[in-house]
Amino acid sequence: MRYLIISDIHANLPALEAVLSHAQDQGYDAVLCLGDVVGYGPYPNECTEWVRENAQVCLAGNHDWAVIGKMDVEDFNPTAAQATLWTRRELKPENRAYLEERPSVIVEEGYTLTHGSLRDPVWEYITDIWIAQQSFELLTTPLLFHGHTHIPVVFREREGGLPEILLPRGEGTFVLDGSRFLINPGSVGQPRDGDPRASYLIYDDAKLAWEYFRVDYPIPQTQEAIRQAGLPESLAQRLSFGQ
Ligand code: ZN
Repeated sequence: MRYLIISDIHANLPALEAVLSHAQDQGYDAVLCLGDVVGYGPYPNECTEWVRENAQVCLAGNHDWAVIGKMDVEDFNPTAAQATLWTRRELKPENRAYLEERPSVIVEEGYTLTHGSLRDPVWEYITDIWIAQQSFELLTTPLLFHGHTHIPVVFREREGGLPEILLPRGEGTFVLDGSRFLINPGSVGQPRDGDPRASYLIYDDAKLAWEYFRVDYPIPQTQEAIRQAGLPESLAQRLSFGQ
């Protein structure tokens, strides 16, 4: 089985479409979405509708929760809060209902899925080896796929020591070697590792390997839609820099 694993789409439809067309050429059987379908970007309904119809599962992200009122916008910076309030007004009831039903953790036979860490699945960022270690302690499967930081990163568990951190750059394949891993596919709609291209991965459970991909998409199209929607200009600018 080949899983297309995507996270942090953030209502960026051109980025999502570019990822899907690229992933189609690689081949996949199922879509797993790690949350933050909406927030920041100008296409919340289009992106939620695609996920509703095509993803086998989708986790709850903090921006999804903020948009449906499950989390306070006061926890956000002013730009994110403004985008959240705009998205609340735009989101159709059926898409809102879909986001309301999203689980915060899914445990399958070979892997676990969350948006953030296992200690605090919707909110905590796995940004360093100490937080990664705490998630390994709670993990009951060989793999955890998580998003939230918008940075493609892999943590490998080590016997009797802190986890090792691996930073995939561009494209690359990782093979399971008997260790356990925390794996972040990066962000489709708002990458933050200095590379503006959309990021995703494909996990192949027959080959016991996963592969990272980066894909160009028409950034000016999303930027223009952000301006048309009256969303903050900084949300358009940052897409050019992958920040
Ligand atoms: Zn996010």
